[in-house]
Amino acid sequence: MRKKSLELQYLETLAQRTKLSFAEQQQLVADQKGFQGESAVDYLTQAILPTQTEMMDDVNLCVDGKRVQIDKLIQVGRKLYLIDMKNYHGRYSFRNRTWYHNGKPLTHSIFSQIERAHDILARIFAEHHLVIEVVKVIVFTNPTAVIEVDDHSGIIVKYLWEYCDWLQKLCHEEEAANLSWKKVLQNYCVAPYRPVEDFSVDSRKIWQGICCPKCGNFWWQQERFALQCKICGYREAKETAYVRTICDYGTLYFRQNLRLSEVTQFFGNGYNRRYLAYTLKKHFIPLNFKGKQFAYRNPGETFEFSFKNQQRNFKQLEQRVNWKCSPRNNN
Ligand SMILES: [Zn+2]
Repeated sequence: MRKKSLELQYLETLAQRTKLSFAEQQQLVADQKGFQGESAVDYLTQAILPTQTEMMDDVNLCVDGKRVQIDKLIQVGRKLYLIDMKNYHGRYSFRNRTWYHNGKPLTHSIFSQIERAHDILARIFAEHHLVIEVVKVIVFTNPTAVIEVDDHSGIIVKYLWEYCDWLQKLCHEEEAANLSWKKVLQNYCVAPYRPVEDFSVDSRKIWQGICCPKCGNFWWQQERFALQCKICGYREAKETAYVRTICDYGTLYFRQNLRLSEVTQFFGNGYNRRYLAYTLKKHFIPLNFKGKQFAYRNPGETFEFSFKNQQRNFKQLEQRVNWKCSPRNNN
């Protein structure tokens, strides 16, 4: 499963709790569309390629202090396809080494990111004496985009609807080869880029408490094992709701560790501090701080991604949604 970018997770979490600025709102929409496009490419790729195909998604590399982010790498035969996905709309053309958008020259090249990624990959493989041709491919995921590229770019440009056909033909032509590119790249993989500052420096007021994932409200009927949204009736296991909201805190305050006092403040009035302490202890990794400094490691991402390997456990917790407070169900 492709992860949403950290920026998208941050903006979606923020949008639940405050009014976004115009720029944030625009960024959120662009990120959401980008993610949809990338997910569509993932889905089609998986449907077309044999299951044993060597691939990597959303790769962040750092070489000599230079960072690069790559959307997708697919090995077919002895070639490595470097896929860059663009969610542009409007009319773009590339003539005489210049990009035009709706007829006006662009100040940046749409190719620059993929060229850079290509050069960094080529350099890494050369250093490791790995012979593999890196082929540059840009997929335009927005169906409304019109792209005209002259033939001299050395880059394969595809619309989403052409991509399937192209990929299908490709894997019929090539024989599988055993190359160690994934292992080589592991040495250069780094965590995705994060801005220097988190929500701590923002003075906007945000809604405190647990946000209903169905309707976005903050009013709950609290029971012993479950919460019920007073607006839409959505029921959620109490433990899941608490962990999910701690992750919301962690996503917005990604530079901070998880401290009980600060997390309690984020929940606001009406929530149980002792239960919060219990939830932190049960689900988060303690850091080696003493006394008042004591804190847990902040995964810095939303519940969906921070706990993606424990989704089965949380599914089981959801059985509690129908538990009533009778002692029979306490064990
Ligand atoms: Zn609701």
